[in-house]
This record gives sequence, C-alpha cells and structure tokens, in this order.
Amino acid sequence: MKKLMAANWKMYKTRAEAKATAEDLMNRIDGKLPTDREVVIAAPYTALETVGSVLAGKQNCSLSAENLYPAEEGAYTGEISPRMLQDVGCVYALAGHSERRSIMGETDELVGEKVAFGLKNGLSMILCIGETIEERKAGEVQKVIDRQLEAGLKNVPADFASETVVIAYEPVWAIGTGEVAGEGEIVEAHGFVRKKLEKIFPEKANEIRILYGGSVKPGNCAQIIALDNVDGVLVGGASLDGESFSQIALA
Ligand code: PEP
Repeated sequence: MKKLMAANWKMYKTRAEAKATAEDLMNRIDGKLPTDREVVIAAPYTALETVGSVLAGKQNCSLSAENLYPAEEGAYTGEISPRMLQDVGCVYALAGHSERRSIMGETDELVGEKVAFGLKNGLSMILCIGETIEERKAGEVQKVIDRQLEAGLKNVPADFASETVVIAYEPVWAIGTGEVAGEGEIVEAHGFVRKKLEKIFPEKANEIRILYGGSVKPGNCAQIIALDNVDGVLVGGASLDGESFSQIALA
C-alpha cells in the first residue's frame, strides 16, 4: 500500500501561483519520491488544469478536486460534476472536508452521496471525517467517527477497488490551528476507523488508506506517518509552499 501525501490548497492561489508552487514541488521531489509514496494535490477549480499540466507524466503524482456535486450535469448553478473534474485531469476528489461541513452546512448524507457518486463515476474519493473540540470534550469521538463513516460510505459500490477509497481523519480542532493531535489520540482514532472499516468492508478494510490531517508540518510528519494505521497525511497550510510540502512528501 502506497502512503498518500495529500495537499489541500483550499481557496488559495491564482493559476500563476499554483503553477509556480506545483513546479517548485515537482523539482524538489523529482527522482526522490520513494516508490511506495503517492503525492496528490487538491487545488481550487480554477487552477486544476494548470496544476494538472505540471503533474502530467510524473509518476505517483495525481490531481484532486476539493469537492464535487453528485449529479452528472444539470441546473446546479455553481456546482461541478465528476465528469468535468476528470475532463481537467482529476483522479481524486475530497468529500466532507470540515470546512464544507461547518461553513457550507454539508450533511453526512450529502457527503455520502458525493462519495458514492464520485466512485461510480470513476474518481477516487477522500472522505474527510473528524470531531469538533466540543464533541471530543463530551467523549463523543467514536460516536462521531462511527456516524460519519456509516453515512459517508453508504451506497459505495460493492466492487470498488480498495485504493480508490481513502479516509482522512481530521480532528476539526487540529485543522489550521497549529495544534496537532497527540500520538495516542491519533492511534486510538485511526484504530477505531480501521475497526469500523472492517465491519463495513470485511475483505478490503486493511487495504483502505487512513490519512491523518491537522497541522501536519515538515517537523512532525515523519513521526505521524510511522504510527499504527496512519497511511499518509492530508495537509493544508504547510502544503501551500513547495519546499515545505516537499519535506512532508519525502518525510
Ligand atoms: C486541511 O485543510 O485538511 C488541514 C488539515 O489543514 P492544516 O494542515 O492547515 O491543519
């Protein structure tokens, strides 16, 4: 199983900025990325084609969208379909990032529809889950993970290839805050995710990658990816700079 080192650029970068960062990153990792590593860049829609052209032909480097809408086409102003994303070179899409859940009000059910629809239409899907600080303080971490996985993976086609489903455990209180979850907290949450995956997909659970996200930096990445059941990282702030993300990708 390849470790997945994913960048999430959120709503940052014009096309020129995106191109410069992607080129800088590729120059820094070129010929150095271990064969058991995969790099993914989730870029804003307007930069997808540009970043895709930089990644073209680079081994184990793929393009991702940060979102999608679960319909083929139609009267969905402001939305974008899996087919349109594939048309500009996307292999992956994120679903259920905590910013979309909290700011755009996405429900567990909508996130599940996005995951299933993306998979059925040829994308690999990165399902983001994680508890808020209030939920953690209330002792509800497992309850939240259980609910978000149950809904997020509902209707996933039974014959999916295990590398096309990725879970990103991102405790909301660790995203963009500089506060990384403790090693014990990560191991416990990822272990719980694995157990839940075993219940949902008994035959594929061990091949589904579970990423950690939340204030991953060059200085803490190596320790995090060495933990049990951590199959990669999803990185926001520290992925915006080519040098910083290259250190993470090669950690
Ligand atoms: C994210 O955007 O998914 C994320 C984890 O952000 P950061 O690395 O900045 O905490």
